[in-house]
Amino acid sequence: MKKTLTVCPYCGTGCALYLVSDGGRLIGVEPSVTHPVSRGGLCVKGWNAFAFVQHPDRLTTPLIRRNGELMPASWNEALGLVVERLQSIQQRYGHDSVMFCSSAKATNEENYLLMKLARGVFFTNNIDHCARLCHSSTVFGLAETLGSGAMTNSIACFDQADLIFVIGSNTTEQHPLIGTRILNAVRSGTKLIVADNRRIRLARHADLHLRHKNGSDVALLNAMMHVIITEGRMNRPFIENRTENYAAFAENLREWTPERAAAITGLEAGEIVVAARLFAEAKNAMIVFSMGITQHSHGVDNVRCCAALALLTGNLGRPGAGVNPLRGQNNVQGGCDMGALPDVFSCYQPVADPGMRQKFARAWGVADLPGSPGLALTHAMDAAAAGELQGMFIMGENPLLSDPDQAHARQALQNLELLVVQDIFLTETAVLADVVLPAACYAEKEGTFTNTERRVQRLRKALEPPGEALADWEIICALAERAGYGGMRYSGPAQVMEEIAALTSSYGGISFERLDQHGLQWPCPDAKHPGTPVLHVDHCTRGPGRFSPADYRPPHETADDDYPFVLTTGRTYFHWHTGTMTRRSHLLDREERSAFIEINPEDAGRLGVRENDIVLVASRRGEIRVAVRVTGMVIPGVVFIPFHFAEGAANALTNNVLDPESSIPEFKVCAVRIRRIV
Ligand code: SF4
Repeated sequence: MKKTLTVCPYCGTGCALYLVSDGGRLIGVEPSVTHPVSRGGLCVKGWNAFAFVQHPDRLTTPLIRRNGELMPASWNEALGLVVERLQSIQQRYGHDSVMFCSSAKATNEENYLLMKLARGVFFTNNIDHCARLCHSSTVFGLAETLGSGAMTNSIACFDQADLIFVIGSNTTEQHPLIGTRILNAVRSGTKLIVADNRRIRLARHADLHLRHKNGSDVALLNAMMHVIITEGRMNRPFIENRTENYAAFAENLREWTPERAAAITGLEAGEIVVAARLFAEAKNAMIVFSMGITQHSHGVDNVRCCAALALLTGNLGRPGAGVNPLRGQNNVQGGCDMGALPDVFSCYQPVADPGMRQKFARAWGVADLPGSPGLALTHAMDAAAAGELQGMFIMGENPLLSDPDQAHARQALQNLELLVVQDIFLTETAVLADVVLPAACYAEKEGTFTNTERRVQRLRKALEPPGEALADWEIICALAERAGYGGMRYSGPAQVMEEIAALTSSYGGISFERLDQHGLQWPCPDAKHPGTPVLHVDHCTRGPGRFSPADYRPPHETADDDYPFVLTTGRTYFHWHTGTMTRRSHLLDREERSAFIEINPEDAGRLGVRENDIVLVASRRGEIRVAVRVTGMVIPGVVFIPFHFAEGAANALTNNVLDPESSIPEFKVCAVRIRRIV
């Protein structure tokens, strides 16, 4: 038997595991006892991370649509067709008529290379990835307030917090090993506040559980800060020495009394006061958030408030404190870091800056690079639906299930003149493609992932890809070569990382040799630098931390007579994202087989539905059939549906309205009605 040390392909926690193989077949996994994050543990998804790899559904050969059917083709034919048709579209409609969608499941090197292909070879900044759908509000909000859109602290810092404030994160289900860490801290005396109207597992262990209404986070956080200021509990030296814009910010909070917030949030004013005092009294208080904060039409404002709470109380720049957005997919932090975004090169170097363009153009050996920011993923779908975008290249994502308003996403994808999908399975999106390129999965290639605490870690090849499948980086380089560009001839991902390090100061000291067993946390600017577990120690990355005032804006849709329930969506413990991998892992599939809706017992009584009844759930955009779970997990008036299941796709219902600054959709709130069918 062979054991290969690598990184879990699911959540951003970034647990290390050994893939165990025997005679070229994967037979299981073992955790890494010495790893600083997972410390010998794995969640159920990690333990089953081998199960989908050799599934018979894996794509093994390129496919080209002929007479309406996807038919096997040679690599030569498929690569030639993709390049020829992308170039043809650009000749007819201009460079920005094509869009490249990168992947939070692909490696750093692959994200960097797709970014280079889009900008350097196809001369467009139309590149984005699914961070747009999960943490673009974080990137925008924390860059503005602190200067860096990443977790300020390390996962190990959770052990040193005196209080952890979890808002909008079902941590034990989405980042299970971090959830366990929080529970262990609570067992050792750390106080816990949970703000989430679902009674998530963490809530059962909390000192205070705030079940505020969906989309009312700004009101809650503003009122907490109002209490802290009026009771004089703020950290004055920190505010004076390390922040700016406090006076205007405090003025904006003047009207945000707990009573006013109570009317919006549905909480008691007293609960808000208790939360504020608990947070302000803690020596080291840490804020943890995830998509319950970011996926709103006011997601950036939510993030601004989280950052402001930390600045107001001086909880920044030391272990046990900080603002800690938990990144969803295994490499969504890396996808952002590598510049798979429409306005920046790697590590957020703006494309609008002529100096940056010159630097990258010189390194890539091209005459010029485009300077206008490209389309965000969400805007690209709108453009495709409107016939204003003709070609789309999607690497390792499944927007037909993951994007809001599925009918809109389907219309957009079907409207394209050319859709190319590069993936490991024939996903719901790939079924619509003109060309499908078969990719290697995480177990079949080398590269690096960056986890939620900015830890860059190596994944290692345990076995060969099936059939003719190739690693994403190999396919991208082959496409570049076909397009007549000779600047993507690499001996392997290690050499790509050398190029990344040379162009990207935060990754400047990172190399495959140095990453070894446990990786390095960026910023790591030079070859001797040990990495950075805590950001903003003496000053924020941007200089002074900025207080950015935010005022409450309600969600775009609220319950009314026609659609009397608020729907919120999310994930479950056993499945991941659109279920492409976890639903092909038989143990995970056995635990959670199909779509369901959580309904509060009071509502179930009113609707006349019981456990396991099938109901029709309809929004203004679509309808689905799902099984009922009657549970106090949700409050009356609110229902929850996970988005993993194609046959009961929650995103058939969700609202495509966007945050104006981050362009993130409002996945967490839309209005629905429910009718019993069976
Ligand atoms: Fe994988 Fe996340 Fe589970 Fe760790 S916590 S084993 S990274 S899914």
